Amino acid sequence: MTAVGATPVTAVACPSWCSVSQSTHLRELRWEGRASHWSDARSGDGWEIRHTSASDADGHPIEIEPKVYISTNGGLTLAGAEALALTLLATYEEATD
Ligand SMILES: [Zn+2]
Repeated sequence: MTAVGATPVTAVACPSWCSVSQSTHLRELRWEGRASHWSDARSGDGWEIRHTSASDADGHPIEIEPKVYISTNGGLTLAGAEALALTLLATYEEATD
């Protein structure tokens, strides 16, 4: 069987922090025209942080801006807030790397 149209994509160039499988990315490219890269979640006492970006098959960024997602379960202890702040900074640095 021969593919029709553009060169078939068999692998997606991911950022080093991406935890999404190649098979998921190939499906995304086929149906949405882009791969959504997601980091592993970093979590602490009452909070969780992940970040994401989107690219084409070659790893070039496309129209969607990278984003950081933070979820909390309401109030944080001071220690939890400090850990969140430090982890958020580390996540930001990874996302902008
Ligand atoms: Zn990826």
